[in-house]
Amino acid sequence: MDIKLQKSELQRFENLHRYSTGYINLNPIQRGGVLTPEAREALIEFADGYSIYDLSPGLEVDEIPLVKEFISEHLSKFLGADIAKFTLGAREGIFNIMHSITKPGDTIIVDGNRHYTTITAAERAKLRVVEVPNSGKPEYRINVEDYEDLIKNHKPAMILLTYPDGSYGNLPDAKKLGEIAKEYQVPYLVNGAYSVGRMPISMEAIGADFIIGSGHKSMASSGPIGVLGMNKKWEKIVLRKSKRYPQKEVEFLGCELRGTAIATLMAAFPTVVERVEKWADEVEKARYFSRELERLGLKQLGEKPHNHDLMFFEAPVLYEISKRHKKGRFFLYKELKKRGIVGIKPGLTKNFKLSTYGLKKQELKVVVDAFKDVIEKYKTS
Ligand SMILES: *Cc1c(COP(=O)(O)O)cnc(C)c1O
Repeated sequence: MDIKLQKSELQRFENLHRYSTGYINLNPIQRGGVLTPEAREALIEFADGYSIYDLSPGLEVDEIPLVKEFISEHLSKFLGADIAKFTLGAREGIFNIMHSITKPGDTIIVDGNRHYTTITAAERAKLRVVEVPNSGKPEYRINVEDYEDLIKNHKPAMILLTYPDGSYGNLPDAKKLGEIAKEYQVPYLVNGAYSVGRMPISMEAIGADFIIGSGHKSMASSGPIGVLGMNKKWEKIVLRKSKRYPQKEVEFLGCELRGTAIATLMAAFPTVVERVEKWADEVEKARYFSRELERLGLKQLGEKPHNHDLMFFEAPVLYEISKRHKKGRFFLYKELKKRGIVGIKPGLTKNFKLSTYGLKKQELKVVVDAFKDVIEKYKTS
């Protein structure tokens, strides 16, 4: 066959020693997805394709007793939902709900801080999207009361809230929106890609119909994998069965998740359950970090005081340096890497986001000192 790719070229994927490098990684999309030791073992154990079927030969993955019990007992309780499911990821879960409960041409209302995948999912489901604007600079808050007029005007088929959003890490009043949703009887989806698995969150307490999480973003799983919780009143619609295969769910093509990622998510779960209880420490560390960087002349945008580990910074002082530095806008990436720190997007200086999730206070001190060092080194030169 005329395929030129050699095994040797793939060696780029080998020996990266990703998790033993000793680098402090601030990348928001990676902090909550670091595997636990148990999940890492499960990953190897179930790395072969379809090997999860060895647990119970002949059954679909979500019928395997161990998996079935996990979903129906533990995962549903964790989400505060009547029914739980695995999905391919947060975005697919959002699409699954949109596709099941709306029809093409319907309008949905979402927050202005929504993730881009909310829009692509809506496009795929052929929906019209109306956005609730945020408050603009510097906090970019979503006032959930702004949904009310839009609900009256547009009669949406569903509403969605991103909790928190992936740009500023803002946590709007999800519970109040639950009351509004109830008053107008509009289905309500909470996108918890950055909350489920990091912080305590309950669909029931919020008063939502659906909650979405991302395993590889926030549940210490290798992925791709997402979780979906829902109120049982939606069971017949979302879990509707095939006409020809009465056991198989149409929306999930019979069985959507088929292996490795499930093993890692389940293996990590006991640790994840414990870690959400320590959320107050995470908020404390994030606030400490925000304060320290502001002392160096940076400005944290988004809610203040901040309530989440995902933070957006504006850094005029670094931007000024980048204009004079011989490495240009890549100087920050290079200077931080030299000091054992990665995870801020190469080329960004003027503003960037990062996460402090799961890092020790001592590690955050190293990061603060690195910023201080870089600024002092170049500020006046
Ligand atoms: C990362 C992210 C997603 C997408 O998550 P996947 O599980 O990779 O699909 C969706 N919404 C928000 C707010 C995110 O931050």
